[in-house]
Amino acid sequence: MNGDYMEHVENAKKVIRILKKNGYEAYMVGGCVRDKLLKMPISDIDITTNAKPTDVMKIFKTIPTGLKYGTVTVQHNESKFEVTTYRMDENYTDFRHPDKVIYSTNVLDDVHRRDFTMNALLLDEHGNITDHVNGIKDIKSGIIRAIGDPKERFKEDALRMLRAFYFQSKLGFDIDSMTMDAIKEVGQNIEHVSKERVLDEIMKMLKGKHLKKALNSMVESNIIQYLDGLEKGIKFIATLDEMPFTDAFFGTCFVLNKEVPQTLPFSNKHRHKYQQVIELVDKYQIFDNVALYTYGLELCLLANKVSFILGKAKYAKKQIADAYEALPIKSDLDLKLRASDIMKLLDRKAGAWLGELQREMVLAILNGKVQNTKEALEAYVLSHQ
Ligand code: ATP
Ligand code: MG
Repeated sequence: MNGDYMEHVENAKKVIRILKKNGYEAYMVGGCVRDKLLKMPISDIDITTNAKPTDVMKIFKTIPTGLKYGTVTVQHNESKFEVTTYRMDENYTDFRHPDKVIYSTNVLDDVHRRDFTMNALLLDEHGNITDHVNGIKDIKSGIIRAIGDPKERFKEDALRMLRAFYFQSKLGFDIDSMTMDAIKEVGQNIEHVSKERVLDEIMKMLKGKHLKKALNSMVESNIIQYLDGLEKGIKFIATLDEMPFTDAFFGTCFVLNKEVPQTLPFSNKHRHKYQQVIELVDKYQIFDNVALYTYGLELCLLANKVSFILGKAKYAKKQIADAYEALPIKSDLDLKLRASDIMKLLDRKAGAWLGELQREMVLAILNGKVQNTKEALEAYVLSHQ
């Protein structure tokens, strides 16, 4: 544990003490308590309290980050904490957000609205844990268990099902069998959750150490049939020994799916990258100079990785990197005969012909038919007009 981390915890304790001095209850809750018990690094500390957001705002320097859900961010010394008022959530009609957040004065309500037993432990400023849901036992035996009736809880908020797989990938836990059965039953509800949230959760999952285990659970639960474009890929990747990183994961999924689904909200850059991977894996087992030049090193390496994962090519990172380094030209900006010189030489005005001729010159250089020197290119241009 480093100093910053200790300071962060101390600041959280101070915030709790200040809230208590003002007559409120307050605890650290959620992932920070779970990860502390697991002796894992803690990312952020969430605080739950019976103080209303307006009360919290009177006491601390705050940022109103989630007022709709009763959350304000408190800044104390160098630390920031999300402080959320005890809540019970009423009526989830859109499968994701509660229609109305109702504040509660009873911490038990707040504990029971949380997703999994391991995420509902309360930690006070003295280091004592209060456990109303047998969460400690589940953490010790490595079990992800929904609080209450899992089917109801997943119907309220379908994203919780993906959260179960994310936590499995992060922690390597097993999913309790009733919780798993509920996912099998109501998995289709994930279709109602915004694709941004689905993709976020999957991205988080992909970074986990126990990804293979999570992917196998996803296959077992059948939820994959409701995840656009990922079903075949997840089934396949779950069988591998080595888990791919994010780009290779999506690349493999979309090659097997034959397209990048329109519904998945990737940035244009990522969408384009995955589309090009589909194209490259389809066209090349090995990359010639023209392919390396046209698509660039990064994409060719990714396509090779995906082809390798799919058993279509040898893993050739070094050969590809060496071949790229050895390219006689890497960009049309590197042509040793400038556009203005070409126009002068041929006594022609700029036009579409110029770009075409430059492309032709680049191809000739890549294919070893001409050298990238001013003299050689002048001779080439004169003999090819
Ligand atoms: P991580 O290590 O990923 O941050 P975390 O448990 O802190 O894990 P967060 O998404 O940061 O997860 O949420 C904080 C806490 O809020 C959770 O531990 C859980 O108690 C509660 N929570 C978050 N999302 C939900 C949800 N969809 N339904 C119910 N409770 C939730
Ligand atoms: Mg968290």
